[in-house]
Amino acid sequence: MSWLRFLYYFCVLMIKIERKKNCCGCGACAQICPQKCIEMRCDEEGFAYASVDEQSCVGCSLCEQVCPVINSGDARQAISVKAVKSVDDNLRKVSSSSGLFTLLSRVILSRGGVVYGACYNADGEVVHSVACNEQELVPMRGSKYAQSKVSTVFEDVQRRLKEGVEVLFSGTPCQVHGLRRYLRRDYENLTMVDVVCHGVPSPKVWRDYLGGINPDGLRPLSINMRQKSRWNRSYSIKVTAGDGVLVNQLARHNVYMQAFRKDYTLRPSCYECAAKGGRSQSDITIGDLWGARKIVPRMADHKGLNVALVWSEKGSRLMNEIGEWCAMQEVAFEAVLRRNGSIVGSAKMPAARADFWTKYKEEGVDAIERFAPIKYHNPFVKLYYSLKKKRVK
Ligand SMILES: Cc1cc2nc3c(=O)[nH]c(=O)nc-3n(C[C@H](O)[C@H](O)[C@H](O)COP(=O)(O)OP(=O)(O)OC[C@H]3O[C@@H](n4cnc5c(N)ncnc54)[C@H](O)[C@@H]3O)c2cc1C
Repeated sequence: MSWLRFLYYFCVLMIKIERKKNCCGCGACAQICPQKCIEMRCDEEGFAYASVDEQSCVGCSLCEQVCPVINSGDARQAISVKAVKSVDDNLRKVSSSSGLFTLLSRVILSRGGVVYGACYNADGEVVHSVACNEQELVPMRGSKYAQSKVSTVFEDVQRRLKEGVEVLFSGTPCQVHGLRRYLRRDYENLTMVDVVCHGVPSPKVWRDYLGGINPDGLRPLSINMRQKSRWNRSYSIKVTAGDGVLVNQLARHNVYMQAFRKDYTLRPSCYECAAKGGRSQSDITIGDLWGARKIVPRMADHKGLNVALVWSEKGSRLMNEIGEWCAMQEVAFEAVLRRNGSIVGSAKMPAARADFWTKYKEEGVDAIERFAPIKYHNPFVKLYYSLKKKRVK
């Protein structure tokens, strides 16, 4: 490196990703860049990282100022923590927890606002998009276990906010914090909702898996990664294409879900998440109320409950507005946290993560079972799946 370039690196403030764990892929830097010289480029694991065209960079340092990892927020104390149960059983059935996301969104839509959230596109990729009515909200329901692509959504949110449109933005804590920093000021017409996030899996592994079960690229695709079972003791992944079912399997029997559950395919930054526990600066955090039978025995049933951590007055007001559509009860934060560590803690990186990715590059999805073997309690189920696998090959 010439001394001139050396000097340039030290004087010009631009985002440099020296450790992969230091980029959460929110894309705030790429969207704020006045020169448009930052591109979000995917690495071999399929996660997008900021890449700067140094020739065009003018060193304005905006990219560093909006980065939610460099500027991780302070952990806050929730104003209140609530157990929430929607009164609409159909909504609970199609939502991951109890449908709180839909209830909050409904209030914003009823006032002529818009809602941003994660959907599947026509190719089955997870992308952030906007809903202007209840119909467009439907694809946002349900947890999608792959990192969503934000593209230029922050720019779009800002445009609408400046036009005076009311906006609810939902996403992972790092996406919410990325947007908060991108905007660089408060907007009264913006409400931010983040999900409790265990970590986001690689979009590449999801694409490879989907390509394997749908080699002919049949359409339309319908995907549900969090299909509730009858008694909600477990959940399944179901994918249909054309008029056939491609997969309908318990998550613990499915290779894609198993790699996620065992933490092999999570984004490196998820192992040191800088945005959990209120640090995303969201107004409300929503998650599963695990251990509901112990925490709120009167409310608990087998259909799923939400926990809501309310961080701001704005969040409090919005929660008050959904009162007629749900039952709510104040709960102790410690009791919730004891059963749902993901609210504040990051997933632990598996010791063999690097070996996993080395094998994945050689063998693709077939490598998963070596590292995250599937255990069948029922030998007939095991036989059924091994015969099915042979037939597909
Ligand atoms: C990757 C991931 C990991 C999670 N891990 C946990 C956990 O460990 N513990 C826990 O309590 N809860 C976790 N959740 C949250 C939980 O599964 C529910 O999403 C949440 O309780 C809301 O459920 P709901 O019934 O209110 O609404 P739903 O309609 O089920 O929720 C949909 C909401 O999730 C958002 N969403 C879905 N997929 C994504 C995605 N890929 N990226 C960004 N936003 C997305 C949508 O934008 C929408 O806001 C996780 C969610 C995701 C996406």
